[in-house]
Amino acid sequence: MVSLCMELRKDPITRSWVITGDDVPDNSPAVESFCRFCPDSREPSQLIANISGVPGAPWSARSVVHPAALYHIEGEATRRGDGIYDRMRPIGAHEVLVESRSHTRHLWNASDLEIEQFLLLAAQRIQDLKGDGRFKYVSIFKDHGSSAGQEFEHPTSQLTATTFVPRRVLYELRAAREYFQSKERCVFCDIISQEEKQGLRVIEIRGDFIAVCPYAPRVPYESWIMPRTHEAAFERFGLNRPGTMRDLGVLLRRTLQRIRAITEDFHLVLHTSPNSLHRSGNLGYWKTIDEDYHWHIEIMPVLAAKAKSYTFKEVYYSPLSSETAVKRLREAKIES
Ligand SMILES: [Zn+2]
Ligand SMILES: [Zn+2]
Ligand SMILES: [Zn+2]
Repeated sequence: MVSLCMELRKDPITRSWVITGDDVPDNSPAVESFCRFCPDSREPSQLIANISGVPGAPWSARSVVHPAALYHIEGEATRRGDGIYDRMRPIGAHEVLVESRSHTRHLWNASDLEIEQFLLLAAQRIQDLKGDGRFKYVSIFKDHGSSAGQEFEHPTSQLTATTFVPRRVLYELRAAREYFQSKERCVFCDIISQEEKQGLRVIEIRGDFIAVCPYAPRVPYESWIMPRTHEAAFERFGLNRPGTMRDLGVLLRRTLQRIRAITEDFHLVLHTSPNSLHRSGNLGYWKTIDEDYHWHIEIMPVLAAKAKSYTFKEVYYSPLSSETAVKRLREAKIES
């Protein structure tokens, strides 16, 4: 268990929050003989929400409290100063999103319906947590494979709701706002239109979604999935247009199959707009956010042989161009 003495500290230079403290290492063997996320688990986790939809099954995907939650839901963040520094308690939510009832059906081999239900659950959880004014941002991410820091064997993603916006998202929000201020267009929409026109880095287009290798990749085979019509918030998109989640699920499955033809390990993260209930005065991006931000999924594969370092003098170093990566991903043999 993560001890409660962990706290959030803000780096005064980059303005990013870190979670830190002296975590007591858990010496008990990590391997459990049972799975706490399987439907008949003898030690089930605390249930938050179920989603049904698969005929004959009481649930298809579900959300539970993380068994060693980094963030805790009770109380106030009580942000306070420490000389020039800022700190606060790790108030928030930390959930495990069980993607499937099956211990072996993952986002790359589950049915269309299962993946669609999982995506809808993710949208519902984000919408629900954004109703809590304390939370500025809800993240959904997945780490798969031992070199990516996978935590559980059962097909799962994780969710955190935090009282701050994580650093990478904050950078994106600021950059998207600046681009919008000068061009009055969404930078992501402009990227999509150029990529579709050039066709150099497009992995696949499916209905309203596109999968591309980004122009300036941080790691080889980095892939993004984006909606082709503008929308800042994933949950609003997913819940208002539920039929489209089927296409997104299929494209996600096919893209993960392509990546798995190269490597099994990857990080996946969903980037959506922050909580607009939380109108922070010192961050001026809230007014145009619906126009300037555009939700997307980022997948960062981890290549075992090249795991040493992807940075060279603090600059991302990706020894494979996106134009070459996309050819290999397009040609990868996939099932469906
Ligand atoms: Zn299981
Ligand atoms: Zn856009
Ligand atoms: Zn992003």
